[in-house]
Amino acid sequence: MGRVADKVALVTGGALGLGKATAEMLAREGAKVVVTDVNVEEGQKTADGIVAQGGEAIFVRHDASNEEEWKAAIQATLDKFGRLDVLVNNAGIGFLANVEETTLDDWRKTQSVNLDGVFLGTKYGIEAMRQSGGGSIINLSSIEGLIGDPDLAAYNASKGGVRIFSKSAALHCARNKYGIRINTVHPGYIWTPMVEAVTQGKDTEKYKALVNLHPIGRLGDPDDVAYGVLYLASDESKFVTGTELVIDGGYTAQ
Ligand code: NAP
Repeated sequence: MGRVADKVALVTGGALGLGKATAEMLAREGAKVVVTDVNVEEGQKTADGIVAQGGEAIFVRHDASNEEEWKAAIQATLDKFGRLDVLVNNAGIGFLANVEETTLDDWRKTQSVNLDGVFLGTKYGIEAMRQSGGGSIINLSSIEGLIGDPDLAAYNASKGGVRIFSKSAALHCARNKYGIRINTVHPGYIWTPMVEAVTQGKDTEKYKALVNLHPIGRLGDPDDVAYGVLYLASDESKFVTGTELVIDGGYTAQ
């Protein structure tokens, strides 16, 4: 039996990076997985790969910043698997600029995916999980939701928002005895397409500078984060809600 056997999980941004690793990990541990993303080709590949390994998965095209598409993605999950037990609000975009360089459009675009998307997912996830009798919502924040970076003004704001919004929603669910837990995950720099776009490969000064920020001496692997999500998705964490799981190789311990 897997650690999330027979649970139904929806993972946003599941085409690449952390979302892909998480969808695959949850499927290996027995979950039925709905992979959603705006990247149709890679998202479908993630779902097909899970099925090829003997798991159960479907892909749904879904822009996590769009309210109507949230309703449709949850409905597709209920139509296919009949319930929702685990929701991983992973879809996010990076935006590298300081406060003076950031335009209002840049700011709004960043908040629309990283913060509105998490709000909508949590709202409609709670609605579906109440019908299923409970569940676990895992919201991807970042170390950038805990500490400031002068070149990540809009991203810092979005990830800080995810952190404290998730506590509010967790307390609401606990107070109402919904059996729904909500937690945040705070990765350091993990080697995914998002970070690759920043460093332009591994043989660069920027890459070495990022490694040096992590006392453990390397960037994270996507599975380093997926294992944390797996714990929060499973019943092993049944007393854990409203908290922050930092997976950062010691970055924020300094
Ligand atoms: P990634 O490599 O860029 O993958 C993100 C996936 O989400 C991509 O497939 C992307 O599609 C998709 N996506 C973007 N906007 C979307 C939207 N509106 N609706 C649905 N899907 C959307 O990112 P990642 O590094 O795996 O990061 C995943 C999450 O972890 C993000 O929330 C990120 O902020 C957070 N995080 C990452 C790190 C890190 O070091 N990698 C550290 C801390 C936190 P396209 O490629 O087509 O845009």
